[in-house]
Amino acid sequence: MDPEPFKIKMIEKIRLPPKDERERLIEEAGFNVFNLKIDDIFIDLLTDSGTAAMSDEQWAAMLTTKQAYAGSNSYYMLEKAVKDIFGFKHFVPVHQGRPGEHILFTNIVKSGNIVPNNSHFDTTHANIKFVGGVPKDFVVEDACNTEKNIPFKGNMDIEKLENFVSDNRYNIPLIMITITNNTVGGQPVSMENIKKTSEIAKKYFIPLFMDACRFAENAYFIKKNENGYKNKTIREIVKEMFSYADGCTFSGKKDALTNIGGFLATKDEKLFEKFRNMLVVVEGFPTYGGLACRELAAMAVGLHESTEESYLKARCGQVEYLWKRLHDAGIPTVNPAGGHAVFIDGKRFFPNIPQEQFPAQTLAVEIYIESGVRGVELGTSCFGETNPETGELVKLPELDLLRLTIPRRVYTNNHMDYVAESVIKIFNRRDEIKGLKRVYVPPLLGHFLAKFERIK
Ligand SMILES: *Cc1c(COP(=O)(O)O)cnc(C)c1O
Repeated sequence: MDPEPFKIKMIEKIRLPPKDERERLIEEAGFNVFNLKIDDIFIDLLTDSGTAAMSDEQWAAMLTTKQAYAGSNSYYMLEKAVKDIFGFKHFVPVHQGRPGEHILFTNIVKSGNIVPNNSHFDTTHANIKFVGGVPKDFVVEDACNTEKNIPFKGNMDIEKLENFVSDNRYNIPLIMITITNNTVGGQPVSMENIKKTSEIAKKYFIPLFMDACRFAENAYFIKKNENGYKNKTIREIVKEMFSYADGCTFSGKKDALTNIGGFLATKDEKLFEKFRNMLVVVEGFPTYGGLACRELAAMAVGLHESTEESYLKARCGQVEYLWKRLHDAGIPTVNPAGGHAVFIDGKRFFPNIPQEQFPAQTLAVEIYIESGVRGVELGTSCFGETNPETGELVKLPELDLLRLTIPRRVYTNNHMDYVAESVIKIFNRRDEIKGLKRVYVPPLLGHFLAKFERIK
């Protein structure tokens, strides 16, 4: 494996609290890792969003750019990056991905409209519903088979999409495609699939927007695994990907290597005017869009850095490294490794814990106690349907997963080894471990605030 194409210039100390302290802390947190304090966490694999380590060049650009209500040079830096890398002429900066979604859907989705996507991320789902629209997923069936190890499990099911669009063409204001497909595990979408989706969109005169949060990681998978792209540069692949789209939403907290920021881009001048007008009302003037000007500069530099192949090789290589260590040890992972995270199948990890007793949540708790590592449950607690009166689970989701999400440029492979070893230790004594009982759940977004007790 090639080493990282960077070295460490500044460090942040991390502390592993002693084991008895970890046991007390997780109990006080109601066996919910969202209630832990960062100072009590040794390695934080909660999310890759807004957690990247920035480069010296990003920090330098933040310092030297000029802060101005209107006309900051950082806006023009970002404008150039958006044009050079994505090929979009019109864009508005926003403070993260979701305000971009909100502005997009407010302007083109009417009540009762349907928006197809390979898989809607929860914020796009919520923002479409917020304006009265209906989000609908068309991901390929293979995405649900966690064991199957094939590339491009994030793809759109083209046949299903086409049938649906031809039946509902006048009720679809836009088609979206999410790259990489976060909801099914950061699995990428092939160029062929993007192209076919765009052909359907064009045939029915419907605009195609990309949810582009992890576009660079997606481009790397195309280069690595799709025929005909081995000798293309990442920038060439990115340009081709976006040549099929009419616009995109983007959270800079992922592949712009920044801690905050995002943008909404379009090729349509009339739509751009609407976006700009609404931006002024909800985010701010178009040359800063809800951010300090320095954040735009950090995004502009970060977009160049994240589309360097050597960086992506190390980035996706590290995620694959952790995946492979777990997979080789017989841990039931979701296959193959995603671009930003490794997922473990809770039900297959703890076959003796019934799903009503939260196997993946149990694993999150055990990993913290074992090693001070924080992963996150995306399963029964997060997606299970609950009776709001009694708090009881009424419908179990099909998958009960634990996600170990790798922040960009933050941890070394020694950290990954430590994580893998702690999961393997738990796996080796899995028969002794009991599940959890949920004792408190608020009616909305229960997963963040739920409390559990150990089953004795
Ligand atoms: C993170 C994310 C978003 C939303 O971005 P925020 O910056 O968190 O608002 C939208 N879509 C996908 C696929 C994401 O991963």
